[in-house]
Amino acid sequence: TETVRQIAAGEVVERPASVVKELIENSLDADATRISVAVESGGADGIRIRDDGIGMDEDAVQRAIKEHTTSKIDDINDLASGVGTLGFRGEALYTISAVSKMTIRTKPRDGNRGTELHIEGGTVVDVEAAGCPEGTVVEIRDLFFNTPARRKFLKTTATEFDHINTVVTHYALANPDVAITLEHNDREVFATTGRGNLESAVLSVYGREVAESMISITTGDIESDRITAIEGLISHPEKTRSTRQYLSTFINGRYVEARALREAIINAYGDQLAANRYPFALLFLDIDPGSIDVNVHPRKMEVRFDNETGVRDAVTNAIREALLSAGL
Ligand code: ADP
Ligand code: MG
Repeated sequence: TETVRQIAAGEVVERPASVVKELIENSLDADATRISVAVESGGADGIRIRDDGIGMDEDAVQRAIKEHTTSKIDDINDLASGVGTLGFRGEALYTISAVSKMTIRTKPRDGNRGTELHIEGGTVVDVEAAGCPEGTVVEIRDLFFNTPARRKFLKTTATEFDHINTVVTHYALANPDVAITLEHNDREVFATTGRGNLESAVLSVYGREVAESMISITTGDIESDRITAIEGLISHPEKTRSTRQYLSTFINGRYVEARALREAIINAYGDQLAANRYPFALLFLDIDPGSIDVNVHPRKMEVRFDNETGVRDAVTNAIREALLSAGL
């Protein structure tokens, strides 16, 4: 059964970026205002996530690493409130700990005692009292050390880091009120202030040149009872990229993959886009959760719309309007 468990874990923890995604979500769910992510060698050697969230007492942390334990009430389609825990649903820590060497150091807010827990390949090897600040640090070393086949599947350090960067970037953009820092091999990649809006998060993550080329979208009246807001930033049609990678879409505050949205963005530019060029776009939609169908896979979140045509039109119109009012 140990092997079965390791195989199952390998299926859901595909790569270091999947670990990072789960741990950031936990920190956000724990009400953190600062989250720092530090990884080594594309995350294969080390991942450390530190937050100033609510923390855990010893009982809670012991419970947290068991199978099917969650302190959260979730509804898989609860994209509206943004509190729904996505991904492993009470299994992330358990699953990740089965395929790595994990240390959790945590102290509850206004608790007087911290706890440090060491787990190797799913087995708790040590628990002790620890002096530590309020909040939680989760450290993962030697991911897939006990599943060599899975470890062999990892791509180059650069590719694995790229996946991590994408994940952390999406959370940083969707949560500009949380200060999120990313470090790779002790070098800071970006740091958001946690005090700003989307514009300032874009500046922190992508730099001044991108930030200055962006046009903002804010919808006034939307002719749909299902969509309540479309907001975001899109690039000037001449400031484009050679990949679709920078078309980031969020629904009710969560990053989602939705082809309909990506295509609607591209269509809005019409022939203002050169061949094989893609805009840089960050699109945030607020939409009635009852009108979407969410397919939550541990690795990604896909969304379909009941009224896809209506959504496409609303997005394309919002972007056309933004381009028009920028004189384009
Ligand atoms: P889920 O997030 O679906 O509940 P996890 O395995 O990711 O499942 O986490 C299990 C539990 O551990 C959470 O419900 C939460 O109570 C606790 N936990 C995990 N990470 C943190 C954290 N960074 N701060 C506080 N509590 C945490
Ligand atoms: Mg979780």
